[in-house]
Amino acid sequence: QDLLVKKWDKLGMIGQLAAGIAHEIRNPLTTIKGFLQLLGQETNTPYQELLLSELERIEFIMNEFLFLAKPQQDLKLEIKNLNKDLTDIVDFMRPEAVLNNIQLDLECDPSLPLVYCESKQIKQVMMNLIKNAVEAMPTGGNISIQTMAKPDGYAMIRVCDEGMGIPKERVKRLFEPFYTSKEKGTGLGLMVSNQIIENHKGTLVFSSEVGKGTTACILLPGAEKERLV
Ligand code: ADP
Ligand code: MG
Repeated sequence: QDLLVKKWDKLGMIGQLAAGIAHEIRNPLTTIKGFLQLLGQETNTPYQELLLSELERIEFIMNEFLFLAKPQQDLKLEIKNLNKDLTDIVDFMRPEAVLNNIQLDLECDPSLPLVYCESKQIKQVMMNLIKNAVEAMPTGGNISIQTMAKPDGYAMIRVCDEGMGIPKERVKRLFEPFYTSKEKGTGLGLMVSNQIIENHKGTLVFSSEVGKGTTACILLPGAEKERLV
């Protein structure tokens, strides 16, 4: 037990360090990309496209990493109605889902409690979960996204897909860094998502059945509850 705690402590520290490095790398990366584009216009080098796509891959990984583990005390908390954020995210992601033959259904509970959160981070989690759901359904289908007020004062957000599902022995590995089953996956999305939700004093839980689909469930303490703590 103690050892396990230590292991996670260590991961947290390394994670924060990595996020700092990622931040530092991102700026020069943007500069390189800009000048490479200019250079391409002037000299028309055949390698420009390859270089650009490799740079974009680095950028993608950095962005996924940057949302990592801001320690709890550094969060910029605002009081938020997550129904609104979720609606924005779903509307933003719908066109691409439709291209993949996927329907995004959103059902918002109007009595969802407000929560204290850093909106940008929670949005990142929502996007990660929906993206994974989309990627789990290569032949299309429905993704049902719901919010619900729980009787104990928590706000629940659920993302249910009809995708390939996750074998039982893998469910417990989902939050491990670099755990991925995808050729172009980073295996960072869920680690970051879990860290963000934990920093908000919430929980992220998966249930899944192979061949049937997966449900990801976020629980966050409502603002009223939070004030009592
Ligand atoms: P990535 O998407 O880059 O692989 P993630 O951390 O987002 O990394 O997810 C890790 C792994 O968890 C995925 O590669 C996939 O195997 C599994 N997974 C996550 N969400 C789902 C889902 N909705 N359905 C099936 N598998 C999933
Ligand atoms: Mg992912």
